[in-house]
Amino acid sequence: MVATDAEHVLRACHDGGVRLARFLYCDNGGVIRGKATAMSGLAGRLADGIGLTVAMMAMNSLDQLQPVAGMGPVGEVRLVPDLDTFAVLPYVPRSAAFFCDMLRLDRAPWGACPRSFLKRMRERAAAQGLTLRASLEAEFSLALPTPEGGYRPFDRTLCFSTVAMTQAAAFADALVGALEAQGLTVEQYYPELAHGQHEISVRHAEALRAADNHLTLRETIRGVAREHGLAASLAPKPWPDAAGNGAHIHFSLWDAAGGNAFFDASAPDSLSERGRHFLAGVLAHLPELVALTCPSVNSYRRLQPQTWSSAFAVWGHDNREAALRVASPFWSNAADTVNLELKAADSSCNPYLALGGLLAAGLDGLDRRLEPPAPVEEDPAALTEEQRRECGIRRLPSTLEEALAALESNPFLTDALGPLLAESYLAVRRSEAAAYRDQGVDFEIAGHFDKY
Ligand code: GLU
Ligand code: MG
Repeated sequence: MVATDAEHVLRACHDGGVRLARFLYCDNGGVIRGKATAMSGLAGRLADGIGLTVAMMAMNSLDQLQPVAGMGPVGEVRLVPDLDTFAVLPYVPRSAAFFCDMLRLDRAPWGACPRSFLKRMRERAAAQGLTLRASLEAEFSLALPTPEGGYRPFDRTLCFSTVAMTQAAAFADALVGALEAQGLTVEQYYPELAHGQHEISVRHAEALRAADNHLTLRETIRGVAREHGLAASLAPKPWPDAAGNGAHIHFSLWDAAGGNAFFDASAPDSLSERGRHFLAGVLAHLPELVALTCPSVNSYRRLQPQTWSSAFAVWGHDNREAALRVASPFWSNAADTVNLELKAADSSCNPYLALGGLLAAGLDGLDRRLEPPAPVEEDPAALTEEQRRECGIRRLPSTLEEALAALESNPFLTDALGPLLAESYLAVRRSEAAAYRDQGVDFEIAGHFDKY
């Protein structure tokens, strides 16, 4: 994904033999959807976009349309591509894709457009000369279809094991190649704890691009797996008794001079005062923010104590049970590498909403010069309830309903989202909570496996 213009896109499509160009967006249910144009209409569509019924942002991840004012059968918005996100897709024949903004017919950003929400939050940071940079790590489950119509893990190997690496090597090689071909810089790959679980991470980028990159990761992981006769799922908990799939968000704030505003050479943990304020803001809003970062029914099967997913609203240094971790910087370059990690995040999120919410919360901490409570340098689940109470350690919501109720009662976050996005988001996610309630674990797992 390089900065580009319409002429470049048209030439690249011609040279690459592209027949269909996908105009993509991520909806309130965290599902990536889109429409594709054939080459005959591409030049016009780059400017005009493709029409989308307003009802799609009231559609949940079971394709059940929810009653939301202003999102009925009448009215449309336009999916207008960001040309900088253009990529020829390496895992399907003759196809390219863009990520799109949702614009009203008067060309203004639509109130329910998630990408425009993140742009608004980005402007809030820019007003203070700050830029959020982030990367969402993708944990995912590789699986094989079973004759019964279900899935089983692709391997039965150990965490970080070379046996797993070798078994999945052809897939991993193709995955890295496909991501690089789309302009992403791959950083690490390894087999993770659960059978069939793998993880890949890409270099951090400015927040909007980081959200686009996360969608590219999700699309590419699933697409390349398919080419290899495999299924890949980024659902938070594809197997109830095995480690879940997180999408840990690593983030840092950069100033106008291009320096990492989280870095202070004189602080023992290298975290600056601004870093502490930002962290304190995210922590203060975290029980509500998880409604955006861990937003599916299946998310709360993952978000359990002692699974390294985080279950308490605490922070710590290299503490894998803390929702927020100060990641210790690289020896060779602490200034550029000190960053924070939010573990309470997964790939059933809409990354524009997750990063926009995180940025809003952190900026609130900066504005109010919030100081974080004492760090927790042990497993909070190992403390007694009384000890946790004394230390002011709060449990994160343990169900989607609880998280959504928290979000609804946080006017700072709902104001940031704006009325149309807040209302449609709550309606869609609440309807998913209702659809899975009383249905049993198999229905829940099957309902999330193929969508994320
Ligand atoms: N799989 C764990 C999760 O659900 C994370 C393991 C790790 O990378 O620390 O978040
Ligand atoms: Mg991991």
